[in-house]
Amino acid sequence: MRVFKFGGASINSAARIKNISAIFKSYPGEKILVVISAMGKTTNALEKVAEAFYKGEKEEALQLFENVKQVHLNLANELLKSPVNNIHDFFTEVEWLLHDKPAKDFDYYYDQVVCAGELLSSSIVSAFLHSEKIKNTWVDVRDIIRTDDNFRDANVDLDFTQAKINEIILPEFNNTNIVITQGFIGSTDENESTTLGREGSDYTAALFANLLNADSLTIWKDVEGVMNADPKEFKDAKFINALNYNEVIEMAYYGAQVIHPKTIKPLQNKNIPLHVRCFLNPGAAGTIISNKHVQQSLPIIVLKQNQVLINLNSKDFSFVGEKPMSRLYEIFADLKIKPNLTQNAAISILICMDDAHEKIEKLALMASELFDVQLERNLTLLTIRHYNTDIINKLSKEKIIVLEQKTKDTIQMLMKSPQ
Ligand code: ASP
Ligand code: MG
Repeated sequence: MRVFKFGGASINSAARIKNISAIFKSYPGEKILVVISAMGKTTNALEKVAEAFYKGEKEEALQLFENVKQVHLNLANELLKSPVNNIHDFFTEVEWLLHDKPAKDFDYYYDQVVCAGELLSSSIVSAFLHSEKIKNTWVDVRDIIRTDDNFRDANVDLDFTQAKINEIILPEFNNTNIVITQGFIGSTDENESTTLGREGSDYTAALFANLLNADSLTIWKDVEGVMNADPKEFKDAKFINALNYNEVIEMAYYGAQVIHPKTIKPLQNKNIPLHVRCFLNPGAAGTIISNKHVQQSLPIIVLKQNQVLINLNSKDFSFVGEKPMSRLYEIFADLKIKPNLTQNAAISILICMDDAHEKIEKLALMASELFDVQLERNLTLLTIRHYNTDIINKLSKEKIIVLEQKTKDTIQMLMKSPQ
């Protein structure tokens, strides 16, 4: 059994959907579970719908949703002779909701609206594959992936989900070789839709690979594979053909956009290899990520923008002991904040984190009970694994280094440009 994940860029036009159907034709007779995310920029567009609705701008929300509808209807018309039945049900679900008045939290409505993106794209792809005589079954992942009600960042109930996979997905493979479902979304025990966090389809695919004991997961992207730096930022970025799970989990955690950070654990836990391949060049092998030790010859460079440095100073010159430290970590847990870098001194602590504005303001307020708090914003965190002096000098040239940490493998520099 294989698991394939197709992201938004691989299905954002009729030509691209035809291209992925050609990929399926090159795996005749193989059992494949397919995870699909929303087309192109649909998720962003649906976020705008949810925001307008929540502000009470009903007409605006309906108009924005109409645009999303048209994009999908046009695509379906271009690809298919007969209409896809279920896409109208998904349109209606959202439109009904938009006619209501918001009475619950924003995050709840966000998930009810945004989940439509994956339901629509996967339905169109499934119908097109049928029309190409590629037999497949479409499954609503909300019947499979059970989550809690932490809307927008829901946590998956693995036992329940495993049971549903055994009960629904596995028997389906007796009737068909291809099962098509959605990434990024799930459902609570009260049948409310949930989402797993932006870019969460990779994670869904890794969960399926784990729970199905798949032989491999392939993530089909618009790039050749994993590069040693983001090719949009670094023109001389180079392709890497093999990587170890450890390397990739660190890269993803520190901000490499190539794979969602939660993707690696489910794969590593069952030793399932991850292939990152290019849907525009399906003959190429891409990058393989596995438990094999790989001697990394290239430095790996990751930039994380929009960082804030929080400087916490003891108010009365007392040491920063266990008590204020544990209180501080309680605050992090309450606010769901993950520090990217920390450094302690006798009477102060420095913490670098993503500048999620609202959370940081709350954190500053809560921490001010214990410390004097100062914030420095607009910083960039540069992480270089397998560094050398040349690369450090090159990348830190003309920058002001606010904080630096170095281990045997990794250097991290929190930087800003001079004013
Ligand atoms: N469609 C969702 C997003 O854009 C999930 C994904 O693409 O992985 O965040
Ligand atoms: Mg995506």
